[in-house]
Amino acid sequence: MSRPPRLRIAVQKSGRLADKSQSLIEAAGFRVVKGANDLLYKIENAPIDLLRVRDDDIPTFVGDGVADFGIVGRNVLEERSEGAPPVEVMPLGFGRCELRIAAPKGFDYAGPRSLEGKRIATSYPNVLKKFLKRNDIRADIVTMRGAVEVAPRLKLAQVICDLVSTGATLETNGLESVETILESEAVLVRCRTLSDPALESLAESLIARIRGVSASRDAKYVMMNAPRARLEELTAILPGADAPTVTPLAGREDIVAVHAVCQESVFWETLERLKAAGASAILVLPIEKMM
Ligand code: ATP
Ligand code: ZN
Repeated sequence: MSRPPRLRIAVQKSGRLADKSQSLIEAAGFRVVKGANDLLYKIENAPIDLLRVRDDDIPTFVGDGVADFGIVGRNVLEERSEGAPPVEVMPLGFGRCELRIAAPKGFDYAGPRSLEGKRIATSYPNVLKKFLKRNDIRADIVTMRGAVEVAPRLKLAQVICDLVSTGATLETNGLESVETILESEAVLVRCRTLSDPALESLAESLIARIRGVSASRDAKYVMMNAPRARLEELTAILPGADAPTVTPLAGREDIVAVHAVCQESVFWETLERLKAAGASAILVLPIEKMM
């Protein structure tokens, strides 16, 4: 008798995306338990396994169907050059960074043209090649596995193309970014065909739950009392809210209670604007789950 099929999700084993990928899966209601080895963790309450690997292997594993799903940076996905491409399901809102061209301070950069004939060091030769081609620039690419930022000092290259989140590494190496060639964040990807068709409904539920967790992360439930006459103006201030629920208040003709789900962050500035437009008793509540 064959064993029932299990859905496989490839996640980074250790590194910048590892903890957040696992937390996301846990927030979606799946309890992760360590397996007998480091490579495979199990989900206790669903037939799912986490395949824990280096992030660079995730696009190929998912593309080839070794894993059904994967969580990986868009930068790694774009760099993939062989095999079938995985299908992008949704961006996940963490692991944000940019792939940028950076040059030594004082380098006279006047757009991609300035890269013509230069040597550029990078760990992302394929993404860089595509950028150069788009801009019709010929340059030499020096591929390095890491420590790209030291290349100009070692005279290995005049310019680099590297991942940047805060820019601190560039700064300490006397470099400044001159161009962004890719904006990246972690994305959920899936293979074109699941390893077993019986896993389809589990796959759909996984996607729906992850969508729910991502959506509810910034979302807030806002309640307030509002002058009926200014309802339209007030609703327009609420960030990313669909039609709000409007309820009459006992004994008040002029004021109504307004409840709305805001899909985006609600800042103090928003509350101040609501108040200025006549709202009172404003409450902002977190949302735990959304579907
Ligand atoms: P692995 O051992 O899995 O190959 P790695 O060293 O290639 O790990 P990490 O440094 O852990 O990768 O980064 C993983 C991903 O995190 C990157 O591919 C990128 O999508 C994202 N990331 C976010 N901010 C940064 C940053 N400042 N520098 C590098 N990567 C970042
Ligand atoms: Zn890597």
